[in-house]
Amino acid sequence: MRKNSKYIHAGVHPDPSTGAIMTPIYQTSTFVQTAPGEHKGYEYARTQNPTRITLENALAELEGGTHGMCFGSGMAAMDAVVKLLKTGDEVIASNDLYGGSYRLLTKIFEQFGIKSHFVDMSDLQNIKEKINGNTKLLWVETPTNPLLRLVDIQALTDLAKENGIISCVDNTFASPHLQTPIALGADIVLHSATKYLGGHSDCVLGALVTADEHLAERLYFIQNSCGAVPGPMDSFLVLRGIKTLHVRVDRACANAMKLAEYLKGHKAVGRVLYPGLEDNPYHALAVEQMTGFGGMISFDLANDSQEAARKVLSATKVFALAESLGGVESLIGHPASMTHGSIPRDERIAAGLMDSTIRLSVGIEDVEDLMEDLDQAIAAS
Ligand SMILES: *Cc1c(COP(=O)(O)O)cnc(C)c1O
Repeated sequence: MRKNSKYIHAGVHPDPSTGAIMTPIYQTSTFVQTAPGEHKGYEYARTQNPTRITLENALAELEGGTHGMCFGSGMAAMDAVVKLLKTGDEVIASNDLYGGSYRLLTKIFEQFGIKSHFVDMSDLQNIKEKINGNTKLLWVETPTNPLLRLVDIQALTDLAKENGIISCVDNTFASPHLQTPIALGADIVLHSATKYLGGHSDCVLGALVTADEHLAERLYFIQNSCGAVPGPMDSFLVLRGIKTLHVRVDRACANAMKLAEYLKGHKAVGRVLYPGLEDNPYHALAVEQMTGFGGMISFDLANDSQEAARKVLSATKVFALAESLGGVESLIGHPASMTHGSIPRDERIAAGLMDSTIRLSVGIEDVEDLMEDLDQAIAAS
């Protein structure tokens, strides 16, 4: 089946008991057995829920893996991956990382003796310098959040394999429509399905996909043992969201390209970070490893004033001021005080995230409305 058809059909079958074309929301905690140990493959809903398993199978197929596992949130999915490690093991992660991922590695796992190093992964040399006998996990985001830097996935997973290190790519920003890291050698792909996969800002859910039988077994064990599973309603919402993933992401990419060009020509705007712009340092890599440039744009104001940035954020009328991304509606955010508030200022600036950096999650509205909205909000700053 071709890619665009897969979003409609992957992993989904008419419900065997009724023929319902949409997977039902199996709102049940347990399943009746005919005799002890004799059942239809479902015993207890933490371990197996039919709605969740349908979603897990769909995601495995879309990411080109063999096994999917869903969790109560993207962070719960990440938590499960880091639990593959033990005290004394080390992680190397992007220094331009989702704030919650940084927090989990530093504030939770360091307490258990799992140390993390944060480096600019767009230069492999930085990673090589941190690899030692304890390095067990490379944690990659590409494009990164919020600076939209790209990491060469193939080169990075080659390096991980040479050193016997597990590689996990957080594919939330690209979605499987634009990038499939397993095909480029990644051991595990993570999604905050809260974002593009769900696509309608109406649920929180996380997922992992792998094509490695042994890793899958360990991750299922962690999923079932720790129990951070999503409910059937949220699993259903993501299943429904996936059916329009390609249509939504294609429109968001087209809108974002136009807005990035518009912002680049605006005299009150400084850096515009969007891999679709031809003079962006990651443009060539984006063309190579992605099939589109995504719906996320970040930009600074020319005067880099946090005060002015705050005025822009309060003045938009179509763009809603909110955390999160990947929904049908456009959102605007100020990473330094919102999503990345937990990263110390000097560390943040050193990583290139300025006081005035504004992040856009471009939705699927008419692009003229989005442009006019930014125009009047920047004028108001
Ligand atoms: C939102 C997000 C997460 C965390 O996912 P939740 O579903 O909010 O727990 C992880 N990585 C990235 C890139 C995100 O945008």
